Amino acid sequence: MAHETLTLAQLAGHDDFISRHNGPTDANVARMLATLGEESIAQLVDRTVPAAIRLGRELDLEGPRTESEALDYLKRLARQNKVFKTYIGQGYHNTHLPAVIQRNVLENPGWYTAYTPYQPEIAQGRLEGLLNFQQAVMDLTGMELANASLLDEATAAAEAMALCQRGNKKNKSTRFFISDDVLPQTLDVMRTRADYFGFELIVDAAENVGEHDIFGALFQYPGNTGEVRDLAPLLEAARERGAMTVVAADLLSLVVLKSPGSLGADIVVGTSQRFGVPMGFGGPHAAFFATTDKLKRSIPGRIIGVSKDSRGNPALRMAMQTREQHIRREKATSNICTAQALLANIAGFYAVYHGAEGLKRIATRVQRLTSILAEGVMRGGLNLQHSSWFDAITITGIDEGKILGRELTHEINLRHHGDGRVTINLDETTTAADVGVLFDVLLGEEHGLSVAGLDQELLASGTRGIPAACHRDSDFLTHPTFSRYHSETEMLRYLKRLENKDLSLTHAMIPLGSCTMKLNATTEMIPITWPEFANIHPFAPSDQVVGYRQMIDELSAFLVEITGYDAISMQPNSGAQGEYAGLVAIRRYQASVGESERDICLIPSSAHGTNPASAAMAAMKVVVVECDASGNIDIDDLRAKAEQHSDKLSAIMITYPSTHGVFEETVREACQVVHDHGGQVYIDGANMNAQVGICRPGDFGGDVSHLNLHKTFCIPHGGGGPGMGPIGVKSHLAPFVSNHVVTPLQGVKPECTAVSAAAFGSAAILPISWAYIKMMGARGLREATELAILNANYIATRLDGHYPVLYRGKNGTVAHECIIDIRPLKAASGISEEDIAKRLIDYGFHAPTMSFPVAGTLMVEPTESESLYEIDRFCDAMIAIRAEITRVEQGEWTLEDNPLIHAPHTQADLMDADWNRGYSREIGAFPSEHVKAAKQWPAVNRVDNVHGDRQLICSCPSIDLYRD
Ligand SMILES: *Cc1c(COP(=O)(O)O)cnc(C)c1O
Repeated sequence: MAHETLTLAQLAGHDDFISRHNGPTDANVARMLATLGEESIAQLVDRTVPAAIRLGRELDLEGPRTESEALDYLKRLARQNKVFKTYIGQGYHNTHLPAVIQRNVLENPGWYTAYTPYQPEIAQGRLEGLLNFQQAVMDLTGMELANASLLDEATAAAEAMALCQRGNKKNKSTRFFISDDVLPQTLDVMRTRADYFGFELIVDAAENVGEHDIFGALFQYPGNTGEVRDLAPLLEAARERGAMTVVAADLLSLVVLKSPGSLGADIVVGTSQRFGVPMGFGGPHAAFFATTDKLKRSIPGRIIGVSKDSRGNPALRMAMQTREQHIRREKATSNICTAQALLANIAGFYAVYHGAEGLKRIATRVQRLTSILAEGVMRGGLNLQHSSWFDAITITGIDEGKILGRELTHEINLRHHGDGRVTINLDETTTAADVGVLFDVLLGEEHGLSVAGLDQELLASGTRGIPAACHRDSDFLTHPTFSRYHSETEMLRYLKRLENKDLSLTHAMIPLGSCTMKLNATTEMIPITWPEFANIHPFAPSDQVVGYRQMIDELSAFLVEITGYDAISMQPNSGAQGEYAGLVAIRRYQASVGESERDICLIPSSAHGTNPASAAMAAMKVVVVECDASGNIDIDDLRAKAEQHSDKLSAIMITYPSTHGVFEETVREACQVVHDHGGQVYIDGANMNAQVGICRPGDFGGDVSHLNLHKTFCIPHGGGGPGMGPIGVKSHLAPFVSNHVVTPLQGVKPECTAVSAAAFGSAAILPISWAYIKMMGARGLREATELAILNANYIATRLDGHYPVLYRGKNGTVAHECIIDIRPLKAASGISEEDIAKRLIDYGFHAPTMSFPVAGTLMVEPTESESLYEIDRFCDAMIAIRAEITRVEQGEWTLEDNPLIHAPHTQADLMDADWNRGYSREIGAFPSEHVKAAKQWPAVNRVDNVHGDRQLICSCPSIDLYRD
């Protein structure tokens, strides 16, 4: 390009990121359009997106900005946060993230760009990491079973409450007991859930549990103000009442405290945040959920289990892995889909790196420093609320105003109750010098106490704080994995070894329909580990989080413009949680106008399984709307059902473009029908990647949508989480979104209880989406959408003729994804969609989405980030696989012995001295030129799904298993 033709923006480099994010070059685009027979992208989009819903203008967003400008701006915002040393506690603690884990896991795209491990053969690394997490949780809690993470402690407690009722059918009570020293944010979230489950919450002193007629009870261990008490008699009292019991436990305390399992708890929940995961202004962090064996079939979330592969070798997989919600719909045990896999892996690795001895050192040091602090403040004349403690004490009768000034001077935060009580929670990072500073703050500088002197005295007089009945006497982390990797060299190699077993976006396109596996740009990821974002407590005083609030406000404003809604609630930390939050807002709004009897939710049969599961959690009755032969919502059926349920119609949930990958022409009409009957329209925004800059759900009839920031807006999938599912709402719903009991929000009614533990969900990952939008600007975002549509149509066109494309819009185009139908092929050849998925591994790819939304199909979504080179490579592989199927159909290969049935091929296959297959080793493992040059080996052969579910083992397997 001649230099005089450059625009000023180009001279400034403002467009550069757009062409880094978007895969196809101008030349690629020309070739793809020629293949499609389209003149221009504009024409393709005109033929794909109904004119009636087009935005017709560019979005009003600032930008694009260069990568360095975006980072500079974010750094300026970050500096407006004040990183005080926090002693607030209450479920969030300072922690040392070991640098070897920070650099090699949290900051490593090999870990953070992977998908949920639905293809276990190329996911053994992260499956092992998650199994370590489960094992650490089981050991510390003393339970028989643990899942691979939930969203946060508060929602885990709410899930536990629901499980108490499911698992305790004989008990007809609808009352659930919560001990009054529960974390306030946990109670807040449980109130929301209880409202719609029809439970009554009894909040009372723990020792009164036996006085109530209840189906379940929850205790906090240690209590919110630091008390450590023997739970055994309380759990017993609850059990005598026929109640199931939940303990919300602090994971680090369990290193020295008796495990809740040994005390008789049925369920143990909590957060693993302080196992190396930064506070991040509230998240993301992995909650844990552990139970007794008898509850194993009804645990919410995902469980990693041990199965075997086709060679009989042990292999890990997600147990009972079919997305539960897709099968059981509104009867599902929970709506949890995306959880916190990356953070669970980090917490698991923290346990691996420290081992039992390391954790004991950490926990004992924290406890000893707390004892010194307690002793000192008592000698200084202050009173403690409790005579027991692990890591926190509460001082009573103190002049809070006086010490607040000293806190500011020393740049520390204590937890103020506003009634003359102050709680001080120590943690892994607290030093003896810090305790000296705390004495200065609490007692004034003339206190004359010596930390070392107090320590000597206390050591001589025996340990303090933990009641005798509560001392832990059982081992934990005894599996060899937890004692092998304590040197950094060993740990580094372990992490790398696991990483190398897995396929992520660092290897190849991951064409999962509905999941939008696009680029997670390095620049977008950089801010998340800056201390000014990472080390902020969610309940820090508001003047310390000015930068965070500004970033969140700006991101909200971007999303308002992108969606056409009036306000954004940044609280839900997954898509499914957003659905729940949105439906709850609808129900609260309807109650406020005297329409609480509206409880019918219309859901098209093609909807994602989380939709009906979320509706059920909001106490709605699901009525299914049928789809017609071309996959569109059957408008006549919709009319009939809206008419039939008119008086009770609460909402419809529509996914747009549909999960069938089509921009339905009738979406406005569908919204109108529901509005005419007094209902609200929920538009599932998971497919926003086909809309940004082209159309807006708020314009064509939506009242509320969630946005999966971990799909369209570049937050990486992390191997199954974290995510963020903020909701956009029209102004009438805005006062009814989630508020927060600890950090109240403006413009939201105070009685609107929370859906997440933290006011802004997983705030620490929001800079990713902020940076993406800022660096793309309006034009870049629109072009990304157009290229996502172009890439999908190019794939549909190239594969057509080899595989039937199931659904298309009225002009023959698809949206940003396409479904290819394997059912006719399977009928003719016996080769299934699963065989194709596994064979793709041999070609170096991750499979598309399998059997959603239609059984027996594959759904392909390339996103805008994939280049023509990669897309062609994928299409070539699919076409080559089709040719292989033909050889089976024609009898050249038998159905029992062909490279599809035996896929994926491992190094063990090639080494097999008895190779006696009807095809060569080369066809098996090196079917394309590309894999000859760069082979990503599956770590195991095809994993047996049934075996792992029949005998559920979700602890680290004994080494003997690997020996035979
Ligand atoms: C991904 C997805 C969801 C659920 O989002 P999570 O973040 O996994 O909870 C809901 N609906 C659709 C259509 C989706 O693709």
